[in-house]
Amino acid sequence: MNRFMAGTLWILLYLVVVLAPLFLMMVSPTPPGRSFWVEFSVALGFVGLTQIGVQFLLIARYRRITAPYGIDIILQYHRQIALMALVLLLAHPAILMIYNPALLELLNPFGGTWASRFGLASTVALVLLVVLSLFRQQLGLNYERWRLTHTLLGIAALVFAHAHVSLAGEYLNTFWKQVLWKVFGAAMLSSLVYLRLIKPALQQRKRYRVVEVKEERVDNFTLALEPVGHQGLRFAPGQFAWLKLGKTPYTIAEHPFSFSSSAESAGRLEFGIKALGDFTRNLKNVPVGTDAYLDGPHGAFSIDLIPAAGYVLIAGGIGITPMLSFLKTMADREDVRPVLLIYGDKRWESMAYREELDALTERLNLKIVYVLEQPPEDWRGETGFITTELLARNLPQEKIKREFFVCGPPVMMDAVQQALIELGVPLEHIHTERFSLV
Ligand SMILES: Cc1cc2nc3c(=O)[nH]c(=O)nc-3n(C[C@H](O)[C@H](O)[C@H](O)COP(=O)(O)OP(=O)(O)OC[C@H]3O[C@@H](n4cnc5c(N)ncnc54)[C@H](O)[C@@H]3O)c2cc1C
Repeated sequence: MNRFMAGTLWILLYLVVVLAPLFLMMVSPTPPGRSFWVEFSVALGFVGLTQIGVQFLLIARYRRITAPYGIDIILQYHRQIALMALVLLLAHPAILMIYNPALLELLNPFGGTWASRFGLASTVALVLLVVLSLFRQQLGLNYERWRLTHTLLGIAALVFAHAHVSLAGEYLNTFWKQVLWKVFGAAMLSSLVYLRLIKPALQQRKRYRVVEVKEERVDNFTLALEPVGHQGLRFAPGQFAWLKLGKTPYTIAEHPFSFSSSAESAGRLEFGIKALGDFTRNLKNVPVGTDAYLDGPHGAFSIDLIPAAGYVLIAGGIGITPMLSFLKTMADREDVRPVLLIYGDKRWESMAYREELDALTERLNLKIVYVLEQPPEDWRGETGFITTELLARNLPQEKIKREFFVCGPPVMMDAVQQALIELGVPLEHIHTERFSLV
């Protein structure tokens, strides 16, 4: 099945699951006649809750689900749909209270019933979860702590909401409906068990070992891993994996990095890493021989998944890593399709991997345009940012169909994408990888 068909099928399945409770509500026996607004509010609550449940499936990194879209799209969807679910779940009590103001009493955690208390607790957990996610950086919450809190609040919101529905009970008034509802809740939570317990157990059997940590430039390292007692991992150039370092794969600290090595050498996997925070700054202290675990490969940002007669690669800073993997793989495959690489960075001295890139021009049909924000005095190449004018000057004029791959800081990616569209490149030929999932 091709990516388009698989993607469409998952969307249809998603709609069926999210709308299923509405059909369940309509199956007899239904509660005795109630007003339209009560029924409408309950329907919103059910759909909002199912959407929250399905979030657990979305983030479990099932490759079959993520492959047609790429994980960054799935996570963007996860964020947007969580906001929508929150609106639906807030609308559920709001409509009931507008319709019957006496129900405002239910906002008092010491009043009301257990059903209303669980409903309130679920809403509070969800609001907190969304606020912490939207304002994580402003609140100075580090990624690991945020992720733990996010998971716990997500579980709390789902479990409390299920308790609310079970106790409120009007629509789960038969045994089979109750069983179905519990199975649905358990299925969603089991995704978390898969991600946090089953996956690490599988990773433990496929351990890697750090064989080299090489300083490339200031604050930029190559981390090389080799498989221990297995064949290693096959990936498509441009894909990435979540990396854990240390004795056990049962740790919450894991970070995504694109492979920078050739997809043809599964026996030695490399990652090009920029030191930005706690984990990446500590890399230089990681001793050779340290155990490593990988969850991957993930991602749809790959020349293998998007065939073309030629490519234009546009990278900013550490966004060069997936491009490096493209080029090394093409060289190993003696692939001579034309490639233009436009690579921007602040300074010549900080530009990672340029010696390797220059060497690759000998083996490939590759042209490189370096762009420096702060060029040295004798610099004759392109300067400043990657703008529409710069692209117009450098993009190939020949008529073959090229695909465009863009990776770099978010501001640069937005600007380049806009510039390419202005230059007439159709959106479906522009492929992006964002290094900021959260
Ligand atoms: C698909 C993808 C591919 C990437 N490839 C590379 C690469 O090839 N080279 C490279 O240097 N960087 C890459 N990154 C970015 C890299 O994951 C972050 O720089 C790294 O996780 C930062 O961790 P830290 O603790 O050092 O910094 P922190 O200061 O903790 O984090 C800096 C920022 O990185 C993000 N981040 C931190 N931890 C995680 C995490 N566990 N999962 C997701 N995002 C996190 C957050 O937005 C955070 O604000 C990639 C990111 C993604 C999503």
